Amino acid sequence: MKDELEQTLREQLCEIGRRLWTRQLCAGSDGNLSVRLGSDRYLCTPTGHSKGFLSTDLICRADAGPEQPSESHRLSSEWAMHRAIYDERPDVHAIIHSHPPTATGFALAHRLPATWVYAEADVLLHPIAMVPYVTPGDSRLAAAARSAARGSDVLLLANHGAVCVAESLEQAYFKMEMLEAFAQILIAAERVGGAKQFLTPEQGELAALRRKLRGDRFGPSSPRNKPGS
Ligand SMILES: [Zn+2]
Repeated sequence: MKDELEQTLREQLCEIGRRLWTRQLCAGSDGNLSVRLGSDRYLCTPTGHSKGFLSTDLICRADAGPEQPSESHRLSSEWAMHRAIYDERPDVHAIIHSHPPTATGFALAHRLPATWVYAEADVLLHPIAMVPYVTPGDSRLAAAARSAARGSDVLLLANHGAVCVAESLEQAYFKMEMLEAFAQILIAAERVGGAKQFLTPEQGELAALRRKLRGDRFGPSSPRNKPGS
């Protein structure tokens, strides 16, 4: 029997899936979303379904023994990656993986978007990490993503897509939407001569704002993404 919290989170997974699909942040059956339900209890989207048309009964429980009631309702093939990040980051309660087109373009080019040219990205997304390419679904991807998530909430998976983690599904969604918008803005800036970096004092002010809003976890010691790197 599902309790009220579980039902609410199932509905949120469907709603955030709809927003991802409506904003064209995923295509086909791309992507997967999960949320922490309790101690060692999770909910995750099923494999092979469009995120735009999920229903609460399709959402999978992903506990110690994943429930897999039918062939049309199987746990995402990337669940191992989600689980590895949850194990690494007790503060993370929701994870979204998707293939937003422009951010994924940066991932295909192995290019980290330089955050120190745009205040919103520098405060809310920095640092963005690049996860080396691993075949999707391979267990090595879980280990690589876990390692990258130690120092970042926003990961680009080389030649694949993006992962955003947060304390809630809504916050993880905001990061994914902002990451894609930021990637589009950088491409637009390149067309008109290239983005200009903040000056050193401005970078310091933004770092202070980041610490105020997000705490010290990703403070001044975290390396900045170099433009064009
Ligand atoms: Zn993927």
